[in-house]
Amino acid sequence: MSASYIDLPSGGSPIAFSFAEACKSLETENDAVRRRGSRRGLWMAVAVYVAFAVPDQLLIPDVAPVTIAARFVVATLALFMFELLLLAKAKTIWLDVTCAAALVVGYVGWLCPAIATRDTAAMSYYMIFGAIFMMGANLFFSFRFLLSVITSGLVLCAFFVTIEAFFPSSPAYKLAFGLFYVSCFTFTSFVNWRLTIERRSVLLNAAEARHQHWEASERGKSLLELSHTDYLTGIGNRRALDRRLDECWLAWKNDHRNFSVFLIDVDFFKRFNDRYGHQEGDRCLTVIAKALKAVVEPSGGMIGRYGGEEFIVVIPVESQRMALSLAERIRTEVEFLAIGHDERPDDRAIVSVSVGVAFTREPAGEKVERIVREADLALYNAKASGRNCIRCFDPLLPRPDDNAGKLVPLLAAAIDRNLVSLVYQPIFDVHGKARAVEALMRLRLPNGTAVSPKVFIPVAEQTGAILELGRWAIETACRDILMTDRMATVSVNVSPIQLRSPGLAASVAEILRECGVSGSRLALEVTEGLDMDMRSEVFKCIADLRNLGVEIWLDDFGSGFAGLSWLRAIDFNTVKVDRTFLHDCSNPRGLMMLQDMISLIRNRGNTILVEGVETAAQLSLLRELQIDRVQGYHLGMPVSAELLQAA
Ligand code: GH3
Ligand code: MG
Ligand code: MG
Repeated sequence: MSASYIDLPSGGSPIAFSFAEACKSLETENDAVRRRGSRRGLWMAVAVYVAFAVPDQLLIPDVAPVTIAARFVVATLALFMFELLLLAKAKTIWLDVTCAAALVVGYVGWLCPAIATRDTAAMSYYMIFGAIFMMGANLFFSFRFLLSVITSGLVLCAFFVTIEAFFPSSPAYKLAFGLFYVSCFTFTSFVNWRLTIERRSVLLNAAEARHQHWEASERGKSLLELSHTDYLTGIGNRRALDRRLDECWLAWKNDHRNFSVFLIDVDFFKRFNDRYGHQEGDRCLTVIAKALKAVVEPSGGMIGRYGGEEFIVVIPVESQRMALSLAERIRTEVEFLAIGHDERPDDRAIVSVSVGVAFTREPAGEKVERIVREADLALYNAKASGRNCIRCFDPLLPRPDDNAGKLVPLLAAAIDRNLVSLVYQPIFDVHGKARAVEALMRLRLPNGTAVSPKVFIPVAEQTGAILELGRWAIETACRDILMTDRMATVSVNVSPIQLRSPGLAASVAEILRECGVSGSRLALEVTEGLDMDMRSEVFKCIADLRNLGVEIWLDDFGSGFAGLSWLRAIDFNTVKVDRTFLHDCSNPRGLMMLQDMISLIRNRGNTILVEGVETAAQLSLLRELQIDRVQGYHLGMPVSAELLQAA
């Protein structure tokens, strides 16, 4: 019985519990054990009681038929009653009362016919067995203390009444047997009382142990939960996501169940913190986390905070297309929150996210980390494409340059620290008259070393620094060239990222107004880049710039894949043919290619500019081809505004 005190309820974790509840639950279990014990006890007691028919027959044969019949009647009634109550699921106390009543009735029911015997001497010895009934009540069954005492007390009384009133007995007999009965009653009651106290304390200890066990396991559970939760947003943390990633990875490797990983980074969040404070930043992250969770979890994905202002989503999906559409929903959901952010350099004025998407692809590789790295590369490309967009991993996409990291802080402070400057390269007509200059950005390190634009422009695009640098370049070019009338027209390169930011046209208008120059004297050169996708916002920006009178030129035509679609979609004022076409003219095939290209542009009515003119032969060829504008080292090197004047 004691083991059942300590064991937890079988087959389940502990539910509840205050200490009192622990006691109660133990008592309930204890109760079940007691019911079984009582049943066993009663059947055993009844068997012994009936077996005493034999001594009845030997000691008091004259009344034995009646006593034996009494034994059978009492035994049958007791068992019948007990089983009936058990079937009716009666309370344990009623089962105990039945057993107690069986003891008393069993004793009295036997005693009454037995004392009528003529063999009083045998009967006077036989009477000693009444003590067994008292022991049964106090020690054999586990009645409650009070019930035991009442039962054994009744047996004691029955004995005294019998020897006083019905059974002829001498004073010595009464004294000796009376004392024996009383001592028996006292000692068994005392032992019973001690046992009851002991049982109670075992129960309390077990309840205490159970309660502590429960507390410890609850603490363990909440610690485990805590260790998988991000303290700020309440969504999963990196540890929780790592676990999910491993599960998805295994499901993919073993059962080919595809999944996707998104890395979601809040755009320009450092500026958000600087502008609105860290607390507001925390609130912003919490709101975003909640919104993302609402999108991701119903689709069976899991979202977590990957660190800082970066979130990660792991989601089983069947196709890359589905993954991309979910990623797009995530992006728009954050846009929809419309959390104000007026410190953004791209004038979008609300908080947005960039999303990098990676989808399972063969070969599986050895480690789950690969898919996360791919999502990270995709995120890098999303950042480099102007933010607030989604990009899917593509092995052909450019990868971040490890050395570029050092440039990030430099670019952020390049304007203030005077590390960035503009040089101007003249653009001529074929008669040798300078018509315009192209502004080219230069960056040098604090130690004076020059950094190639091929290196720093992609980094500036990735970090968003291009937005400020680009605006600065337009303003500086207008001041250097147009305000001073050093040249009629200046062209400035703009990054696709600038074209995508809604504020470009407005800021150009402001610069033109401040400088007091006409928009028609400014040209913006747009490169037909790989990731310059046809977006409505780009077309709108170009249309707005056109309305200011600003010319739009297509740069590096023929260098990418998208040139022709650009040429079809936008009416460029000037198209600049990529220098490689001119350089390939030394062979007939190359020459033919250049001629074809020129006739293509001419047919569309755009002004043609060929760059990269490095020799007199190239210049005369271009004259022959009646090119409108030419540019190159042979005609004029890029120089500072001051030197340009002198030239
Ligand atoms: P990008 O558009 O390139 O992502 O620029 P960014 O400024 O968002 O990225 P960067 O990595 O430069 O800065 C991340 C910022 O996020 C810097 C840090 O102050 C902020 N940040 C990171 N964790 C928390 C945070 O728990 N609470 C708040 N309020 N800000 C955080
Ligand atoms: Mg970041
Ligand atoms: Mg960020």
